[in-house]
Amino acid sequence: MNRKQKKMLRRIIISAALLILANLLPLPLWARTVVYAAAYLVIGWDILRKAGLGIVNRQVFDENFLMAVATVGAIALAVYEGSGDYNEAVAVMLFYQIGELFQNIAVGKSRRSISALMDIRPDYANIEQDGALVQVDPDEVEVGTVIVVQPGERIPIDGVVTEGVSTVNTAALTGESLPRDVAAGDEVISGCINLSGLIKVQTTRAFGESTVSKILELVENSSSRKSQPENFISKFARIYTPAVCYSALALAVLPPVIRLLMGIPADFGTWLYRALTFLVISCPCALVISIPLSFFAGIGGASKEGILIKGSNYLETLSQVKTVVFDKTGTITRGVFEVSGIHHAAVDEDRVIEYAAHAECASSHPISQSLRRHYGKEPDRSRVSDIEEISGRGVMATVDGVRVAAGNDKLMEQLGVEYTPCHSVGTVIHVALDGTYAGHILISDVEKDDVREALTALRKAGVEKTVMLTGDSDSAARQIAERVGIDEYHSQLLPGDKVAMVEAMLNAMRGGKLAFVGDGINDAPVLSRADIGIAMGVLGSDAAIEAADVVLMDDKPMKIAKAIAISRKCLRIVYENIVFALAVKFSCLVLGALGLAGMWAAIFADVGVMVLAVLNAMRALNTKNL
Ligand code: ADP
Ligand code: MG
Repeated sequence: MNRKQKKMLRRIIISAALLILANLLPLPLWARTVVYAAAYLVIGWDILRKAGLGIVNRQVFDENFLMAVATVGAIALAVYEGSGDYNEAVAVMLFYQIGELFQNIAVGKSRRSISALMDIRPDYANIEQDGALVQVDPDEVEVGTVIVVQPGERIPIDGVVTEGVSTVNTAALTGESLPRDVAAGDEVISGCINLSGLIKVQTTRAFGESTVSKILELVENSSSRKSQPENFISKFARIYTPAVCYSALALAVLPPVIRLLMGIPADFGTWLYRALTFLVISCPCALVISIPLSFFAGIGGASKEGILIKGSNYLETLSQVKTVVFDKTGTITRGVFEVSGIHHAAVDEDRVIEYAAHAECASSHPISQSLRRHYGKEPDRSRVSDIEEISGRGVMATVDGVRVAAGNDKLMEQLGVEYTPCHSVGTVIHVALDGTYAGHILISDVEKDDVREALTALRKAGVEKTVMLTGDSDSAARQIAERVGIDEYHSQLLPGDKVAMVEAMLNAMRGGKLAFVGDGINDAPVLSRADIGIAMGVLGSDAAIEAADVVLMDDKPMKIAKAIAISRKCLRIVYENIVFALAVKFSCLVLGALGLAGMWAAIFADVGVMVLAVLNAMRALNTKNL
């Protein structure tokens, strides 16, 4: 409990004690009235003040106003009847404040658990200077600097290990509890904790571009995008509160007037009391608080699993996904190609690889990285000029004065180069030198380990159709599609064709939403065109992480089903709370208007509903067993 909450608890105890004293001690009427007044003011002064400020600021209709009018009305009624019993007014205030305190603690708790989760911001980076370690602000470290990460420290910036072996804990980023072994040459991402050995890391990104900074930015912005239920609530409150106030007024005035006209005694007191009860019941706090809290908990629960959801509206869309469309390279497959053969080479095979690796020196496509790895050396960029990358086709560049083209059938056709089609299954990179065919490199990629499982899990989560789109050849696409068991695939698509394909699917869909999953290399436009774009956080390009609505921190397709399951649970909780709160409210309103429920019952129902709704909302934070 924080200080404010402790103070409130103290007020509640003092007021409750005074209330008991007023009832137990044999006091003269005036003294008892004083004790009641003290009990009431101790617990309710801030509500009265806020209600007053609301009236002054012309924002009259809020819950403070409802509570103030109801309790002051109850006091006025007791004075008018001369009963000297002010229990009701004090108790109503008391329970209201107990409810508020509870809600405050619950919200604080969920916020704390989420921010603890997000407590991954590194404070410093170590740089070795003259044999000593110096701590510097990670923001000031330039790309390419070698930083030292000692055991127990958080890796501050993305980079590649140059020295040392260690294990790193990626749990804060991916939810994966098993530590990962790293050695020289491995990439490490910021935010992970270095567990065992000292490693030196050469940074590959600036701090602001590193994984940690991106995640924090995403999370910080996520609450600003509102989901439909949240919008519904704020619109609802704007109409609801005044409507309730006027209904209460009508309830206080109309029946007595009608009775008078009919010649029966008006009985103003009873109807005024019922109107006041009506006001107490109508307070919509359970809804107002529990819905944002449910979404907040859902997003928090997902981020514990390494799934970043950029806003509650996306959580809502995710829960309605019926079709999932995948990009192939890097999404379904690992994006790590092995060279399996070089065919029809017109020059020395090593020369073919050398030319291709150099032409690919600036590309971030997985194919390019794989070729360069196979080449074994860092391409000498000074030998390369006029680099041109053609999305979905390949690259062209001038290497040692030779015009090199490396890419698929489409690229060769575009250049008018006669090529030899490949009969083996796999991805083919044709190489042309100065417009003459120089053979092709056959490379192959394997699917990620958990793709099959992920597709089964998606079906279980209610997804009706899975589709794979790729720019690769039909044979490579068919092989992968059959191996993983995807419903449908389309091959040889340029990035623009992928957009058109997704648009056609969107038009053909009746109900449900479409999710596109990609790594953003050539597919950022599709990511933003789909109802919801899901990007791979590790392999994914910056553009993809930017364009996507959901980012998977560990690139595991399995997490898509998990994300959908989390969103379904969260939305179910939201609707449970809406229905439950409205049902209880509505029946209490009717009972109150009929005089069957008094103010006590009303406040009990209200606090009870709120406590249950908040507890229910907190369930969204729990993502185990989904
Ligand atoms: P996917 O749809 O599987 O993600 P892309 O759209 O990125 O694949 O690329 C489609 C095809 O275009 C690749 O299979 C490859 O034949 C060719 N291609 C794209 N970029 C390159 C590159 N940098 N080098 C060689 N070929 C490329
Ligand atoms: Mg791709």
